[in-house]
Amino acid sequence: MIEKWTDLAGELDALVSDPPARRGSTCTVGRILAGADESTAAALQRILDTPTVTARQIADALTKHGHAVSMGVIIRHRRRGAETGCLCPR
Ligand SMILES: [Zn+2]
Repeated sequence: MIEKWTDLAGELDALVSDPPARRGSTCTVGRILAGADESTAAALQRILDTPTVTARQIADALTKHGHAVSMGVIIRHRRRGAETGCLCPR
């Protein structure tokens, strides 16, 4: 029984660190969004779409919580779909 829980925990961890690619390529931010629970993903999505919140603030917050992300990744994700942006779906 205990082994089963350990296996599950390992598998859940793997989902966060290496989730399956969805709809083509996604960037680190896209993978965090896909791996987060619904309310966290919604909150992150909201601040990503709030221009007054800087990329540095978002990168710092994510990094503080164990998702090391650079400012550049946030900036590219904000431009997703555009030529200079990432390939995440808009
Ligand atoms: Zn992205």
